[in-house]
Amino acid sequence: MDRSDFRAALHQVADLVADYLETVEARPVLPAARPGDLLADLPAEAPEVAESLEAVLADYRQLVEPRLTHWNHPGFLAYFSSSGSEPGILGELLAAGTSVNAMLWQTSPAATELEVRVCDWLRRLLGLPDDLVGHINDTASISTFLAIAAARHEKVPELRHQGLMGRPEQPALTVYCSEHRHSSIDKAMVALGLGLDRLRPIAADQDFRLDPAALAAQIAADRAAGLLPAAVVATVGTTSSTSADPVAAVAEICRREGLWLHVDAAWAGSAAICPELRPLFAGWELADSIVVNPHKWLFVPMDCSVLYVRGIERLRAAFSLVPEYLRTADQEAAGEKPLQLMDLGVQLGRRFRALKLWMVIRLYGAEGLRARLREHCRLGRELAGWIDADPHFERMAPVPFSTVCFRAGLPGASEQQLEAFNERLLAVTNRDSPFFLSHTKLRGRYVLRLAISNLRTEERHVAAVWRRLQEQAALLRAA
Ligand code: PLP
Repeated sequence: MDRSDFRAALHQVADLVADYLETVEARPVLPAARPGDLLADLPAEAPEVAESLEAVLADYRQLVEPRLTHWNHPGFLAYFSSSGSEPGILGELLAAGTSVNAMLWQTSPAATELEVRVCDWLRRLLGLPDDLVGHINDTASISTFLAIAAARHEKVPELRHQGLMGRPEQPALTVYCSEHRHSSIDKAMVALGLGLDRLRPIAADQDFRLDPAALAAQIAADRAAGLLPAAVVATVGTTSSTSADPVAAVAEICRREGLWLHVDAAWAGSAAICPELRPLFAGWELADSIVVNPHKWLFVPMDCSVLYVRGIERLRAAFSLVPEYLRTADQEAAGEKPLQLMDLGVQLGRRFRALKLWMVIRLYGAEGLRARLREHCRLGRELAGWIDADPHFERMAPVPFSTVCFRAGLPGASEQQLEAFNERLLAVTNRDSPFFLSHTKLRGRYVLRLAISNLRTEERHVAAVWRRLQEQAALLRAA
């Protein structure tokens, strides 16, 4: 592809992206694809000879795009609906153009320093103190993995050399979390060799918030049993119900017990840019580490997860390892040394993710971002009100942010029948539909879950999905 071909191709692809965003609302959110459909349409072998861009883009349009689930669709209300804004998409495009790898300051001073500054901007917007230093990973799963790894290192530094296995003198490390934590905490336990059995899920109260008294009791029992408590993960915005653990009380226990406190605010964390929502986060400023995903609720396209750690040295202590071929003069210079992003985790190579976050913050402004998050929370409250006012439906959890958990009722039905009924309701609501909702279980009960955090979701979409749910539930009851 020569330069003028590339320029023309770039415009063509830009039009494709703009067309996609302009037309996405007209499509069903979920494709009519069955497993293997696309595989059957794709040749098994890579082409030996270069193909034309026209052929590739035609296949993209005809084969790939129709099999996408449309996360940027305003009716995507499942999981934690996340969406990429136009400013974020532009930032991603610019980053792709540079192909920068910000492993070292030297390999991209701008990518490193933009990451430092933009994480600092976000930290201030979230109302967090200066000594929480941020950097960007791909996902919250990785950010949390790094935080627990740093906590493990702090508790038993010799593990770095001696490893976990074959050391009977080493008491097992334990990590604490709510029974409603995200499964990424469990995965970190697996990947770090700590073991799923050493993760202590603590009972939650009636509003799905970790019970600090039960946490303290479990820590005491573990100490008495000769185990070594290492860290607590508190969640603000749990995945199922978006409950907020009482972080201040948990932080006090961590301080008393000498435990690392990690706050998983992967989805809800962005909401702390709105001062009126900060009471839900009270105490998170005391954490040793916090994860917030701008790709979840700050309109940055996948992927962008910011990990804040109190004292960046603590991550360096766990991860820094500099082979000769990665030594640079700026690492050895006297005085303050630049940040080397490779020191902060497992990966060496790093994408230029700061650019899209920078563009989103600048092109919306903090006020623009706050206005959208506030609108999502207003829509969540409005939907909760409609559900509460309808005797055929039941709300299943408080709505601290903008995600609503509920189920349809069925007079005289058992729990089992209610589960089957709501499963059917979810299936018909999502089938060939402008909406996509998901489900969870709360206290063993099957619950529908509608998450409003998609940039393009407006009141008319929430009103329409509510009408659809009411109509479909009535049809199913009558059937
Ligand atoms: N933490 C919470 C509370 C989540 O809800 C999720 C995903 O929804 C995660 C962590 C994992 O996020 P990621 O996909 O960025 O790893």
